[in-house]
Amino acid sequence: MNFELSEEQKMMVDAVRRFVDKDSPVTRFRQMRTTDVGYEPKVWKTMADNGWLAVAFPEAHGGYGGSFVDTSLILEQFGRGLVPEPYIASVVLAGGLLSRLGNDMQIEKFLAPMLEGRTTLAFAYAEKQSRYDATDCETTATKSGSGYTIRGEKVWVLNGHAADAIVVAARTSGGSRDADGLSLFVVDGDAPGLQRTRVHGMDGHSTALLRLDGVEVGADRLLGKEGKASEAVEWALDRGAAAAVAEAQGQLASLFTMTVDYLKQRKQFGRAIGSFQALQHRASDMFAEVELCKGMMILSAIRVDSADANERRAAISAAKVQLQQGGWYVQENSIQLFGGIAITDEQDVGLYFKRIRVLQALFGDADWHLGRYASLPGFDGAAR
Ligand SMILES: Cc1cc2nc3c(=O)[nH]c(=O)nc-3n(C[C@H](O)[C@H](O)[C@H](O)COP(=O)(O)OP(=O)(O)OC[C@H]3O[C@@H](n4cnc5c(N)ncnc54)[C@H](O)[C@@H]3O)c2cc1C
Repeated sequence: MNFELSEEQKMMVDAVRRFVDKDSPVTRFRQMRTTDVGYEPKVWKTMADNGWLAVAFPEAHGGYGGSFVDTSLILEQFGRGLVPEPYIASVVLAGGLLSRLGNDMQIEKFLAPMLEGRTTLAFAYAEKQSRYDATDCETTATKSGSGYTIRGEKVWVLNGHAADAIVVAARTSGGSRDADGLSLFVVDGDAPGLQRTRVHGMDGHSTALLRLDGVEVGADRLLGKEGKASEAVEWALDRGAAAAVAEAQGQLASLFTMTVDYLKQRKQFGRAIGSFQALQHRASDMFAEVELCKGMMILSAIRVDSADANERRAAISAAKVQLQQGGWYVQENSIQLFGGIAITDEQDVGLYFKRIRVLQALFGDADWHLGRYASLPGFDGAAR
């Protein structure tokens, strides 16, 4: 498989890298942790002006017709600087669903302003009992007049505290966990009856608990066909998983570079600790795990829109397992090789560690993805 980037992709990666190095180093992430929203609308606008929000959307939707590989390459660079803007929530999750299912009015009203950097979006799918099964949905949307009334609670909604509009998964029919009967609605961030509680994650990012207490939406807010959303939801969450691998890949590469630099600088017994072969072996094992994750990141980005859903699932689940198992090796060794200072807030290593930990858990942890991989057709035969 040829992993060589096109000239356009190389130019785009260089531009994002320059932005991260100059305008969004880790110091900006540190500043953002304590602000009201947690990121900067003016930076979001800059990202839009640079074409990074719209790059992978069809031209008919105001995009540049790129691929998910472009999305992953951007996120990988954002990961290097712990860029806090809500790219996965807005662009990958809610933006992806709007582009796939939205009608002309919904594209113009909700997707276009986000791609122009004027708004941000969120996707509310998880509930306190649902774990990684998005069809386990107790939030209901019942027909009322010409529209729907939505009632329920959503947890860990990425960017839910600040989004201008939120795609909400709700049950229009069927029992909890039925694949059939799941529907999507676009709800305004300031809709009467919507209560948003900001929750600070351990990674310094903000999420929200949403309480929908009789939120009224018109029939024009139904995204796609009533009761038929579960396939698109699974697709969106797989894209979220691929995006999480891409962002974390940037962080793993940064952790590796920081650790090797430290091994070269830190002196014990009159010499740099990196001169000891035992630590060089550890560094080379870390390098191998970072490279494996990079390969899985590219493969999952290629397969994310595969016509064969099982091919997509296999690539995404394998990448997620590598992120957790191989990534953990890099994370724990970076902490250990830095020594005790690595667990202090002043040292950047811990910030990367915590963000990767969250990305490992989002959209399915390794146990869940191993289970899904093992359930795919052909797994038994391949294992024998
Ligand atoms: C919350 C906390 C709890 C702790 N609890 C314990 C405890 O219960 N017991 C305990 O013993 N310590 C404990 N420590 C200390 C911890 O083990 C030290 O941080 C660790 O020994 C690294 O020392 P350092 O910070 O000076 O790092 P450095 O001296 O900078 O070393 C960095 C890394 O290089 C390795 N290294 C250094 N020199 C060599 C060498 N010559 N050859 C091979 N590797 C080398 C070190 O093992 C370390 O991983 C604790 C620290 C913290 C922060």
